[in-house]
Amino acid sequence: MLSHDVLVVGAGGSGLRAALAAARLGVDVAILSKVHPLRSHTGAAEGGINAAFSEQDSWENHAYDTVRESDWLADQDATEVLAQEGPAAVYELDHMGALFSRGPDGRFLLRPFGPERIPRTVFAGDTTGHVVLQTLYQQALKERLRIYEEWFVLDLVIEDGVCAGVLAYDIPGGTVQAVAAKAVILATGGAGRLYANTTNAYICTGDGMAIALRNGVPLKDMEMVQFHPTTLPGSGILITEGARAEGGYLLNARGERFMARYAPRLMEQAGRDVVSRAEQTEIDEGRGVNGCVLLELRHLGEERIKSRLAQTRELCTTYAGIDPVHEPIPVRPGAHYFMGGIHTDLTGRTTIPGLYAVGECACVSVHGANRLGGNSLLELLVFGRRAGEGAAEFARNQKGVEVPEARVRDTERELARIVSRSDGERWATLRDILADTMSREMGIFRTGNGMRHCLSVIMELKERYRRVRLDDRGRVYNYDLVSTIELGFMLDVAEAVVISGLGRQESRGAHYRRGYPTRDDANWLKHTVVHRDPEGNLHLDYLPVRITRWPPAARVY
Ligand SMILES: Cc1cc2nc3c(=O)[nH]c(=O)nc-3n(C[C@H](O)[C@H](O)[C@H](O)COP(=O)(O)OP(=O)(O)OC[C@H]3O[C@@H](n4cnc5c(N)ncnc54)[C@H](O)[C@@H]3O)c2cc1C
Repeated sequence: MLSHDVLVVGAGGSGLRAALAAARLGVDVAILSKVHPLRSHTGAAEGGINAAFSEQDSWENHAYDTVRESDWLADQDATEVLAQEGPAAVYELDHMGALFSRGPDGRFLLRPFGPERIPRTVFAGDTTGHVVLQTLYQQALKERLRIYEEWFVLDLVIEDGVCAGVLAYDIPGGTVQAVAAKAVILATGGAGRLYANTTNAYICTGDGMAIALRNGVPLKDMEMVQFHPTTLPGSGILITEGARAEGGYLLNARGERFMARYAPRLMEQAGRDVVSRAEQTEIDEGRGVNGCVLLELRHLGEERIKSRLAQTRELCTTYAGIDPVHEPIPVRPGAHYFMGGIHTDLTGRTTIPGLYAVGECACVSVHGANRLGGNSLLELLVFGRRAGEGAAEFARNQKGVEVPEARVRDTERELARIVSRSDGERWATLRDILADTMSREMGIFRTGNGMRHCLSVIMELKERYRRVRLDDRGRVYNYDLVSTIELGFMLDVAEAVVISGLGRQESRGAHYRRGYPTRDDANWLKHTVVHRDPEGNLHLDYLPVRITRWPPAARVY
């Protein structure tokens, strides 16, 4: 049986950073990913990575901006760690070979991303995620880490209450494999595909979150789903916040810079939740242009667009037939990022000994109710290292672990049962209903009735899911099977999102609830925690927000 000290599930920025940290402590580390590491979604990140480098800046400023933008739901001890360890984490990546954009004096160029008060976003043109992912992957190759490429984790193995490894479908080999591990780190990314209009790739299906939930690990703040204000219609491709940071602005059909009405001080640089709601209001009230608003960049001039926003121009030309040097870009909000996820402490530990989580699938709670752009890539580095080191320390003190053979046989039988179903619906039909319903009822504006309707649709889809039919009956490279299982994960995550949203009777950050339009610190300054009982029913619980130095205050735009 395959066996390692530490097994990292996921080869995006968080998984690779965690794996490197664990390996550098001298334990045996392997990485497992359902796609080739360089296809992980971190590669899509564009705008940059935050760290307090400027002389006017400090880690306290960075932490405070993060807390304020989180609408005070972030745990302040976690944001302090993020901000304090940020510059060293970025320098470390720089020393690994990441090519960041620099000024004539050789220092990092810094962008003013969103509502940051001081420019602090380090970037590599507008392909920062690509550079981060390539750099970390090269380091993983250099360390000769074992990588199980195109292996799809189906479940965890928990023996006597301790995590002992995973069960996975080896997609090219067509077999079920057990990988025993003294510590497992889930680094499986987000779940943007729960929504129809999303910036996320088809692989972002919330697998790690669902697997954790099924094994009794709570998910935290799942109602907090960030919508990014500038995505291309149809494809959902993201136009980086860097475009507004460089001076781009938003117009409605009347040619008005409408942000003046919603955020007179910060205008287009206001928080993503604020700008997305403003755009949606303009569109809903008939001042949009074909379901979009317009992002104007022409005044920046061709040279600046070419040097700072080259990929943005290429994406617009290729996918929307628009050259931003000559025309405004039609944009609309799209589901982008899960602030919530698997509940962890500051070293990535979950409630199961030996199980860790990090990155977008986790909630160490640095983003609260609204993520500050540029903080996710930083979270991958800072907490990736911490989770890797934590898991390595844990593994060192563990005796050998094994996965019972019966678990492999049971999983083989379960897959064979799914593959052999001859009548029923296609997974894609159910996925589209799920995504449309989530977009309508759990999007930028929510209501109690809408969320209850959404929950009833999800429960009905879960019933129909039991009879999903596959067209591909083979075992090797069966993506029909992978997609079917991913849909099961998505339905579980969607239920957690809706139950959490129904619970929160206020508006905070990304959770805007009509009927409760204001933030209510007296009753709701707390984290939502959702957990599943052995019968499969979800229950809500709450945890206090950890406040260290910044008492809640109003966000002023
Ligand atoms: C278009 C876009 C632009 C962005 N721009 C920025 C930015 O400029 N700055 C910023 O800070 N943030 C940005 N973000 C957010 C940030 O990029 C992501 O939150 C972050 O990269 C997620 O990294 P991750 O390591 O958690 O997950 P991912 O990079 O998504 O990796 C997940 C990994 O898990 C694996 N996996 C998943 N499920 C399974 C399974 N069942 N079995 C095996 N493997 C599995 C996948 O194969 C993959 O390797 C952006 C996001 C998007 C979508």
